[in-house]
Amino acid sequence: MRNLMVLGVELACSIIIPPISNNHQDITLMKRLLLIIIMIPVMLSSTAQEKLIALSFDDGPNLTTTVKMLDVLKKHGVKASFFCIGKNITPETVQSMIRAHREGHDIENHSLTHCAIPSLTPDSMTTEIQTTSDLIEHYVGQRPQLFRPPYIAVSKEMFEAIPLTFICGEGCEDWVAEVSADKRYETMLQHARDGLIFLLHDFEGNDNTVEAVDRIIPVLKKNGFTFVTVRELFRRKGVQPQKGILYSDVFQATPWEK
Ligand SMILES: [Zn+2]
Repeated sequence: MRNLMVLGVELACSIIIPPISNNHQDITLMKRLLLIIIMIPVMLSSTAQEKLIALSFDDGPNLTTTVKMLDVLKKHGVKASFFCIGKNITPETVQSMIRAHREGHDIENHSLTHCAIPSLTPDSMTTEIQTTSDLIEHYVGQRPQLFRPPYIAVSKEMFEAIPLTFICGEGCEDWVAEVSADKRYETMLQHARDGLIFLLHDFEGNDNTVEAVDRIIPVLKKNGFTFVTVRELFRRKGVQPQKGILYSDVFQATPWEK
């Protein structure tokens, strides 16, 4: 498509430019300017149309599944989002979180103790989120922007107390040990759509998800999808995250309701 546009510009220039100027440098400059002017809408429309999808992983960091998942993502050249639990960040496990950050993944907030946040007082809600964000910032130098509520348990009070974007996502029952890697892969394949966030887990022992992700990435890439982090998904789709929405895909516009 872009090559065709360039050819079109070349042709247009050969017709339009000679009467205006005979200077070779002028012609080259004008060609470039014309090309830029014509390419801007083409590039903008192709950005809006690109099929983007995000992988996200809850319950790390650890030195087993998190590391295996990072190896798989590295193998396929894919960036993802890791929603870490504050109490799981220890002097040992933090190494995999630091590695994830260094390899271009986003580190997000999945609470401090993984409790049911709606049952807490607003002050305790703040502590759960703030302490985890402080820890993450301390180790990777960047504060989380997104929050995944443990058990997707949400309340109106939480939206008021927690100043982060709330993320849910499409799962594949990957927290159920009996659900095979095959079944997880099939479910992901069925649900894949532009703008979607996959909600997966990198808790210890969850090897079936590592296998499912290893298989789904090349297939979805072949189907025209580009994998990005959840933050990048909002950015590239030009969506400004809104307070009060629990996002499973970036095009969602309906506020969360009890
Ligand atoms: Zn969780």
